[in-house]
Amino acid sequence: MPVGIIGLGNMGRGMALSLQRNGHAVLGFDLSAETRSARMAEGLAVAAALPELIRACDTIILSLPHAAAVRAVIEGPEGVLAHAALGTLVIDTTTSEPAVTRALAATLRAAGHALLDAPVSGGPKGALAGTMTMVIGGEAGDLARAMPVLEAISAKRVHVGPSGAGHVTKLVNNLLCGAHLVLLGEAMQIIETAGLDVATVFSGINAGSGRSGVSEVNLPTWIANGAFNSGFTMGLMRKDIRLAAALFAELDLTPPLAAAVAGLWAASAVDLPDGEDFNRIVTLRQAERRA
Ligand code: NAD
Repeated sequence: MPVGIIGLGNMGRGMALSLQRNGHAVLGFDLSAETRSARMAEGLAVAAALPELIRACDTIILSLPHAAAVRAVIEGPEGVLAHAALGTLVIDTTTSEPAVTRALAATLRAAGHALLDAPVSGGPKGALAGTMTMVIGGEAGDLARAMPVLEAISAKRVHVGPSGAGHVTKLVNNLLCGAHLVLLGEAMQIIETAGLDVATVFSGINAGSGRSGVSEVNLPTWIANGAFNSGFTMGLMRKDIRLAAALFAELDLTPPLAAAVAGLWAASAVDLPDGEDFNRIVTLRQAERRA
């Protein structure tokens, strides 16, 4: 049976090609006819309609923009609940909402299926190389069943807890990444105003305790060289940080710094459209100078 993959965008495309390279038959589907044609031109098998894929596959990966699309693919009239053979395993790599994930997992289980939340890090490059990191929520037995497929698309997998835990972990990870990016932009403004060279100063900081994934990886790879071509957009990062803020609100928490970071990302929509690279947030010069 082919592995199904629904959503063949920046991430889904790479996962499909990695699966194929590692010896798995693959059948893909995307809502966009243009994307379906582009993937067929790259040699991927693509279903003409969603139910065709769901009926043909007992393991189905989702790589979708948001929870509403995940809901549509699982609960919609063309979706998994309506068309899947008993015992279908859904692996949701979307950065989605923990509460929606838990509800869908319960519905799927009651219908004789299973859901793992397995959001990813590593970007389109990691998806294409099969070297992503996955943080996984769900039952150990389902994870064991998914392992051959997960091993074909990821270098590291961490089982972080029950259903929804993968999505909580991913939202906290991206909140931290978003906070580090805002602070990097502020640090760059301080360094420039002090008349120093950002790259040189960070070669010192990256040897010390102020370093982060953002200063060690994002700064040289996508920021200092002006490339801004990571494949992850402002729109998607704003979504993730909005979801992280919704999560701490749901938990009745008011973390002051995280709330400020969430506010800055939300406000960035005025200057940086959704399609821009997410690293562009560091180009906003937010600190004012006292006269
Ligand atoms: P993308 O927009 O490039 O791809 C999403 C694809 O899903 C699109 O091709 C779209 O047409 C398709 N789609 C939307 N609704 C659909 C539906 N109902 N049925 C079938 N197809 C549908 O996004 P992406 O960058 O590939 O990201 C996918 C997910 O992975 C997102 O949740 C994102 O937050 C997460 N993610 C992305 C990155 C990254 O660097 N791009 C990194 C980690 C996680």
